[in-house]
Amino acid sequence: MATSCLAGFALVLALSANLSAAFPQDYAGQELLDEVRQLLSLASTNVQQVHGHGNGDQSDVDESSTDDDHDIKPDRPRVVKNWPLTPLKIGQVSGVSVNSDLQPVIFHRGDHVWNEYSFNESHHYLQGSKGPIKEPTVLTLDPKDGKVLGQWGANLFYMPHGLTLDRHDNLWLTDVALHQVFKFRPGELQPSLTFGEAFQPGSSQRHLCKPTSVAVANTGEIFIADGYCNNRILKYNAAGGLLRVIPNPPEFLSLQVPHALALIESMDRLCVADRENMRVTCPRAGLYSVQGKREPALTIQQPDMGRVFGVAARGNLVYAVNGPTSPLLPVQGFTIDPQTESVVDHWAPEEGFGNPHALAICPNNSAMYVVEIGPNRVWKFDLVRPTN
Ligand code: ZN
Repeated sequence: MATSCLAGFALVLALSANLSAAFPQDYAGQELLDEVRQLLSLASTNVQQVHGHGNGDQSDVDESSTDDDHDIKPDRPRVVKNWPLTPLKIGQVSGVSVNSDLQPVIFHRGDHVWNEYSFNESHHYLQGSKGPIKEPTVLTLDPKDGKVLGQWGANLFYMPHGLTLDRHDNLWLTDVALHQVFKFRPGELQPSLTFGEAFQPGSSQRHLCKPTSVAVANTGEIFIADGYCNNRILKYNAAGGLLRVIPNPPEFLSLQVPHALALIESMDRLCVADRENMRVTCPRAGLYSVQGKREPALTIQQPDMGRVFGVAARGNLVYAVNGPTSPLLPVQGFTIDPQTESVVDHWAPEEGFGNPHALAICPNNSAMYVVEIGPNRVWKFDLVRPTN
């Protein structure tokens, strides 16, 4: 057995060398070469496994690597009871993120409510004369008991939506009434970057229309989901210069209300809560190279998924929440494996979700927060290893 494997190995090696000579530049040849390389690695794995038999240690290693690939269940969200300890005085909670001190930060609408009187058909905000929300809209909470540790953002926002903290604790906020996205450095009261024109919905490169969410890469690139009307994602460099629009024809990716974004940098994927398409789709982020830009998006869509409102990345997995879709579909959370384009777990608090709008995962991956609009509340979950 081992001998025939090694013979095959040698044959593939020889074939590979011949192909290299036959197709030095040719792309089709390159593809063939890649296949041969795959065969080679398969052949070498077989050789390893053959040698592993009769060797206890090696067999153990083989079993554990199989577990790593297929059998380990993802960590499950488990509600932290009595959190927050005392009720928060908040309006509709639309955004949540977690800072580098592992404190959750939420974005809420105070006494403003998004209803049928908020916008006209051309997406102009109709209640600007009421002025901005007068109370602080951004609250930093204590991860232990949910008490308010700090508050900010009074008299600035009209209809808060997304909140993202990057790894430097810069605050990225979207306001669907202003049609703008802001970057605030920690402790600063003036935005250091502003995208879009105040109260002016539009589809040009200068305008946004009800932008929903922001993701920021470690390399500094910025992704804005724009949003309820333009159904596009804009990618900028760290200084705010536009790099790319997703989708960019002939690239095919039809989005219907991209509502939240989650970057998986190790996979170079940007996962989108593609709300009205009832799916999560992960096009190439294009962070480290333009190669693979034309690869199709990884797409996760199942009949019970419903309208996906929130997504957050944890390792190579995505945790997501849906919202009310139909009386037949439970409002719940999903754990998604984009690599296999599959849902690997479902979860929800015992009491059930009402109208979850966003979720966020701690930088150290230990906890998750889900925020809801009506009833307005914040959930804390621990992420625990399943026992079975
Ligand atoms: Zn929303």
